[in-house]
Amino acid sequence: MRCPSCGNPESKVVDSRPSEDGTAIRRRRECLECGRRFTTYERLGDNPLIIIKTDGSSEAYDRQKLMRGLLSACAKRPIAPEQIALLIDSIETELRNASRNEISSKDLGDMVLVRLAKLDDVAYVRFASVYKDFQNVEEFAAALEGLR
Ligand SMILES: [Zn+2]
Repeated sequence: MRCPSCGNPESKVVDSRPSEDGTAIRRRRECLECGRRFTTYERLGDNPLIIIKTDGSSEAYDRQKLMRGLLSACAKRPIAPEQIALLIDSIETELRNASRNEISSKDLGDMVLVRLAKLDDVAYVRFASVYKDFQNVEEFAAALEGLR
């Protein structure tokens, strides 16, 4: 999404609304370099979600990867793969409804944790220990405490 004036790739979205026929999102963007405003249209459905990692790098959202992480967190727990698929569906729906096209890995992890907490305590702690990157034993204990 490069600025048509200066070619700078970074812009901020100043307005976002559905197109008239409802099949696309019309966004007004402002170039962070020169301030030029321009309009982009993004079709619904083929709008990839970008994950911003804690080190600042980014990668495309990968449902299969999230699924694998959740399956290992839920290993040997009484959770059906269909429940995990529903959990991921609900996250994807929430992001789509909010017109989000990028999210930090931490926020995505938090969205998973809110849902896992309702499903299974053990799976929650396993997933949390990976995603929350606990700094010390006290933080980990506090997270466990939060489950009670
Ligand atoms: Zn520009």
